[in-house]
Order: sequence, then structure tokens, then C-alpha cells
Amino acid sequence: MDKTRFNSKIFSSSKHQKKESTKGCPFCSNPGVAVSTVTVKHLVKQNIQIISEINNFLICMNPNCDIVYYCRIPEISFVKNQIRVPVWFKLDADPKYACYCSQVTEQQVLDAVRNHGA
Ligand SMILES: [Zn+2]
Repeated sequence: MDKTRFNSKIFSSSKHQKKESTKGCPFCSNPGVAVSTVTVKHLVKQNIQIISEINNFLICMNPNCDIVYYCRIPEISFVKNQIRVPVWFKLDADPKYACYCSQVTEQQVLDAVRNHGA
């Protein structure tokens, strides 16, 4: 039921103020942490072609920020509601969900999704 809002949010980051940095979060300008495209592809709810073509995704670790994954060039961002699992470092997430940064395997991510009952 929130699909319209999701869609409008994906490509809307360009209207936020431009920062000189191409690394900071487009919303809170926190420095991002690199995350693999595979991780993004598996955890974002929508199957979006462009994800596969981006290899410089970053993750925003600011617990007060709704942005989870983003890329500055091209500008794309995914908010908490667009991710399949609770994001552990965000305020309203289930804290038992561990980090899924690059050393976590794809299978571990899938197991985590399943264990959470998503
Ligand atoms: Zn942010």
C-alpha cells in the first residue's frame, strides 16, 4: 500500500542539497561505509535493474537517518521501509540482527531473513 511512496522516494534524493562530497549520505551527510552490490540486491525489496549496474553502494550508519543504502553517482537511495529486514543500527530495528557488511556471506543473509520470519 506504500508502493507509491517507495517509488517516489527512490529517485528523489537529487532534490536534497548537493554536498561537495560524493561519499556522504544524501540525507544526513554522514560518511558512508562501502557495501557490496550483492548485499543491496538481496536486501532491497524491489527488484530494480539499476542496482546491478552500481558497484559503489554505501550504507548510512546514522541511527537517526532513514537512509540505509545509497549511491551518489548515480544518485539513488533506499530507506528503511525498502529493506527486507530490520536494519540493526537503526533506532527501531530489532537489535539481535547482526551486521551484514561485506564479510557476511549471502547464505548468512538469507538465513537471517528466514530466521526473522520476514
Ligand atoms: Zn544518512
